[in-house]
Amino acid sequence: MTLDVAALRAEFPILATQVHDAPLVYLDNAATTQKPQAVLDALMHYYTHDNANVHRGAHTLADRATRDFEAAREATAAFIGASDARGIIFTRGTTESINLVANVLSERLGPGDEILVTELEHHANLVPWQMLAARTGAVLRVAAIDAAGQVDLADFGNKLSTRTRIAAFSHVSNALGTVNPVEEMTRLARAVGALVLVDGAQAIAHLPVNVEAIGCDFYAFSAHKLFAPTGVGVLWGRTALLDALPPWQGGGEMIETVAYTHSTWQPAPHRFEAGTPNIAGVIGLGAALRWFSAQPRAALIAHENTLVEATLQAFGEIPEIRLVGTPQHRVSVVSFLLADAHPHDVGTLLDRQGIAVRTGHHCTMPLMQRLGVPGTVRASYSVYNTLDDVHRLVAGIRKTLTFL
Ligand code: PLP
Repeated sequence: MTLDVAALRAEFPILATQVHDAPLVYLDNAATTQKPQAVLDALMHYYTHDNANVHRGAHTLADRATRDFEAAREATAAFIGASDARGIIFTRGTTESINLVANVLSERLGPGDEILVTELEHHANLVPWQMLAARTGAVLRVAAIDAAGQVDLADFGNKLSTRTRIAAFSHVSNALGTVNPVEEMTRLARAVGALVLVDGAQAIAHLPVNVEAIGCDFYAFSAHKLFAPTGVGVLWGRTALLDALPPWQGGGEMIETVAYTHSTWQPAPHRFEAGTPNIAGVIGLGAALRWFSAQPRAALIAHENTLVEATLQAFGEIPEIRLVGTPQHRVSVVSFLLADAHPHDVGTLLDRQGIAVRTGHHCTMPLMQRLGVPGTVRASYSVYNTLDDVHRLVAGIRKTLTFL
């Protein structure tokens, strides 16, 4: 299948928006992706025809809502190569998925134990582990990166030991676009008996993900970075492991029996889904997966890589641009500084030209400190971006330079 980017763009109504009298160039896809009409229609359909609570009702609408909600769970499992859909837990986002794991592991950690992360991590994959360490007396260790913004595998290996209870690292860095060798890192961590959590927030829309091939214990991502609504996340875990872990939040849906003195829990995934979930959002995720899976995936990946390559080549011709992060294997993200301008000023001047980029620390304050920069300007691509968007960005940067 070949890729018709113009036809694909036409499925995203928001891309026709004008910003400051210019056609929108949306390059903030690492923050959130736009939604195709198929997803917008699924949300409207659910609220118009099927709205009911899931798993509870002996009535037709409840059956329909439950059917579509559970179909989304099956579709999610298939999308990430999970053999058992019971391993798919719906959360509010990557952040909640990681907090869930960090909380249910509390009883398994104590003084003398270690948690290993890397210098690349988003706050969502750092702060919950700091909190777990503070609760349990465990020590948080941080594997170094090299000057290009890639994990130093030797340092990662050196910081693993039989004391390591969990290693948590991103599949792709949201700040630099670095693709980490997650299979290798997982193998190293599991060899010392550690559990492994992979933060897939930035990988899920850009790389084929197969959790069984990675070999990790947990994989987390957010639906809104995959063309689906906000407010829905996924935590995949090995089913036997999930069934052996205690619940995090208590309430409806997660119990088997309740008495005044004690309660017993459902098996996974319901044990970890207390209360009414974001039903419409999950059904929207199901629609997004159907939409995405019908696209020519290899062509999408090649297209995104072309956009990144074109950006890097054009940036190479602008001496005032300093790239932040030069990893050999990157997807979607290009981070940079322009002359000695503050990233926020660059972002504002680009916005005046209709170009949406992200500026700041990208929820990676320790990484920015490590790299010695106040923040960066970040352009991040998705499947609906075009070479024309790259040209508009480059022209926008040249114009911005005349204001500095
Ligand atoms: N991890 C990474 C690598 C991210 O890029 C993000 C969001 O940008 C998150 C975690 C947190 O995702 P959310 O805010 O959807 O929970």
